[in-house]
Amino acid sequence: MRKAMKVRLDPTAEQKQLLAKQFGCARFWWNRSLGLQYKTRSTQGRWLKRTELNAMLPQLKKELPWLKTDCYSQVLQATSKHLEQALKNWFEGRAKKPRFKAKSNKQSISFPQNVLVISNHRSAFPSVLKRRGVAAQIKVPKVGLIDAKFTKEIEGIIKTVTISVTPSGKYYASIGLDLGDKEVKQSTDGAITGIDLGLKDYVTCHNGTDSYSVKHPKWLKRHERNLRYQQKQLSRRKKGSSRRNKARLLVARVHEKLSNARQDFLHKLSRKITALSQVVVVENLNIKGMVKKRCDPAEVPSAPERAPRHRKLSKAIAQSGWGMFLNFLDYKLKHKGGVLVEIDRFFPSSKLCSNCGHKYQELELSEREWTCSACMKKHSRDENAAKNIRVEGMRILGLGHSPRGDDVRLGTCSEQLSVKRVPTESLS
Ligand SMILES: [Zn+2]
Repeated sequence: MRKAMKVRLDPTAEQKQLLAKQFGCARFWWNRSLGLQYKTRSTQGRWLKRTELNAMLPQLKKELPWLKTDCYSQVLQATSKHLEQALKNWFEGRAKKPRFKAKSNKQSISFPQNVLVISNHRSAFPSVLKRRGVAAQIKVPKVGLIDAKFTKEIEGIIKTVTISVTPSGKYYASIGLDLGDKEVKQSTDGAITGIDLGLKDYVTCHNGTDSYSVKHPKWLKRHERNLRYQQKQLSRRKKGSSRRNKARLLVARVHEKLSNARQDFLHKLSRKITALSQVVVVENLNIKGMVKKRCDPAEVPSAPERAPRHRKLSKAIAQSGWGMFLNFLDYKLKHKGGVLVEIDRFFPSSKLCSNCGHKYQELELSEREWTCSACMKKHSRDENAAKNIRVEGMRILGLGHSPRGDDVRLGTCSEQLSVKRVPTESLS
């Protein structure tokens, strides 16, 4: 089983320069190979394989010696691998089209091996841990020993280390760990929770007996207002001026705060839900225009067409980080041997009566409460949806029956179950 942990790094000025060189080389290689990919795609109608890209490196290093002296060779190979994955994620509808990288954005490089973690403070672990983390060092090729702060003990074997720097100048290492063959056996034996993701409340959960909902965090709006203000300031500054650079840093900092706060909220919420349930059923909301067709980028003749998106709703969805939330739920459940069930987004979870199965076709988005005309039961919209989602998940797992109407298309559920989520390592 794989796991990732993120630690803060504190490189010296000299190390920052050495890292910057490697960031630069990796960025150069990414942009060059991405350009080649798009060019090959338009002239030959195919994508280059990773091995073809890597085969160009020795010649390129002869032309550009700094690519060899400044950068650890495996960093470039890892970049080719990431590009391949990025193109694949794009085609499988999990991510946006890969873009060219700019120096002003977040920079990152991956070391697939030869990274060591050295800690001299093992004995002091529990007490120091609580206050400020444990001092340790990470040995990185071509850079040396970089000071790091650990807040958790390392479990398992280090597989890859990704070093990144945010636009505001914070350095991090994301360490991919292999926990060995400790495969947790998946079981559906336990509490089953259905979750309705909503625009009014963030989530509404139902576990068979009780329902509870969690509101959208308040800071979201505040940070977003701040972000809009800072971006406006940035747009007023003259290009290339030092005031523009300062404004850029401020924008980057708000972005960071927003993303940290969101991740914190989603981690806590998903931890709470997974602690209380063995099976979690959610709706697959097609957040990034999830495309059903899955194929190899090398074989794809053209980009699949995406469904037109509803502007206002899609913005709200993206901002609430639902895709990330489902990823967190997925890996947290996997770690405890639980199951995440994603049901078809066309399942009419809001329109079905969870009591008798009657379908209220005319339900409007503004109707928060409604009464079933068949059995006269009064429903709260989100709670009713959570109940239906839960029962539909049980039906897919073969644990019960669904009140699903006959006019709903069937046969997509097994496909939905096997939808692969983005690996957790790529989150950090
Ligand atoms: Zn009813």
